Amino acid sequence: MTSRYDEIARNLNGVLDQVKSATQSCGRKYEDVTLIAVTKTFPISDVHILASLDVHHYGENRDSDAAPKAEAVPGTWHFQGQIQSNKLKSIASWANVIHSLDELRHIQALDKVAIHRIGVFLQVSLDGAQGRGGAAPADLSELADCVLSSANLDLMGLMAVAPLEITSDQAFEKLATIYAGFKASYPMATSLSAGMSNDFESAISHGATHIRVGSSILGSRPTPQ
Ligand SMILES: *Cc1c(COP(=O)(O)O)cnc(C)c1O
Repeated sequence: MTSRYDEIARNLNGVLDQVKSATQSCGRKYEDVTLIAVTKTFPISDVHILASLDVHHYGENRDSDAAPKAEAVPGTWHFQGQIQSNKLKSIASWANVIHSLDELRHIQALDKVAIHRIGVFLQVSLDGAQGRGGAAPADLSELADCVLSSANLDLMGLMAVAPLEITSDQAFEKLATIYAGFKASYPMATSLSAGMSNDFESAISHGATHIRVGSSILGSRPTPQ
């Protein structure tokens, strides 16, 4: 019988090998890609296993699930779920980085409730905001200016989820173009959060610095989230 530790270790090694070859094939450095293990729906025991395997970036989508895990395991905790105004204060208490900000009012509210510095990715929609969240590219500068004028937030860069209707290469090529324009105006925004289990190699080839990988490491989730 394979233990949960062995299963996670094997999956993780597979993902890290893929990250290595993806960075090599496009002439990027392996160290320039941060792997965020998306632990949503998985128990704290899995997070402990990841920590013992030297993975210290964790991603969560739900405040109520994430708060006790972040309390139990030190690390860099990322929130990438849909933002609800009434949850912002609690999210701000445990999250170090938030990937899914796409509204001015949420950025303003977050800055008010933050009790430590929080890194911010602005989520951009690659398909005109049909369902998977994200601001229109034209609205990014207003959001970025708001982050820059905040007291507690650091602008890290852009985040996107590939739309289902186009290939991941098409999606991330589009994202790379949007990001290049954005970075020209906001040179401090050095990070690009893109790529999940099924498309992180493509995201890496288009410049992703942060990949958010769940099921390839931890297995399939009982309920989609
Ligand atoms: C769940 C989720 C992930 C991880 O998805 P996997 O397919 O399990 O790797 C990444 N990003 C976001 C925004 C998610 O909601």
